Amino acid sequence: MAAAPDTVAGRLGAVRAKVADAARAAGRSADAVTLVAVSKTHPAETIEQAIAAGQLVFGENRVQEAAGKFPALRARHAGIELRLIGHLQSNKAAEAVALFDVIETIGSAKLARAVAREMQRQGRHPRCLIQVNTGSEPQKSGVAPAEVEALLRLCRDELGIAVDGLMCIPPVEEEPDAHFRMLALSAARLGLGVLSMGMSADYPQAIRAGATHVRVGTAIFGTR
Ligand SMILES: *Cc1c(COP(=O)(O)O)cnc(C)c1O
Repeated sequence: MAAAPDTVAGRLGAVRAKVADAARAAGRSADAVTLVAVSKTHPAETIEQAIAAGQLVFGENRVQEAAGKFPALRARHAGIELRLIGHLQSNKAAEAVALFDVIETIGSAKLARAVAREMQRQGRHPRCLIQVNTGSEPQKSGVAPAEVEALLRLCRDELGIAVDGLMCIPPVEEEPDAHFRMLALSAARLGLGVLSMGMSADYPQAIRAGATHVRVGTAIFGTR
């Protein structure tokens, strides 16, 4: 029997169905898209409901908050993948490298160097994405579109960081499609396979543009 619609399990089921539909409509297989459940601001008990419904990939945007919730969840459940999707300050690199499996928000040379230093010190190597500021918004973190390639080279050739792909957060007041397509083109040109883009309001569009990871919070957990 399907879960009641107004529960985490019910909403998760609905989002999964929409992900699969959007993938098929784009001629892609449903398992080419990973649903990242964004659990920021929600307590561990709510995250447990998603885990009970089979969700294991989570996104958090603050290191401190994730550190307060996920070690205990991991002790109870095998196979959780935790992704940092929020801005990372260089002085929190140590904690981020210790806690996350994927850091999606490498957006500057300074941060890349801090993360690389910690990876070496800890012997732990989270996979990374480069965050691209596709809208060139001054208040938003991420590297400028013209500088993605230089940052990628720094990460790979000098710092030994494994970069799997690109991530973006389009400007809220703009139609996101142009941003999704810009990110997809950039990744293709650089031979990068992972594209993290699309949130509750626009993940089907992001999937049509080639997203491999969609970051969905509100549509699964309700309003924050
Ligand atoms: C909060 C957040 C999301 C999820 O947003 P919703 O609109 O709640 O789906 C996705 N990506 C990032 C970077 C976020 O901070």
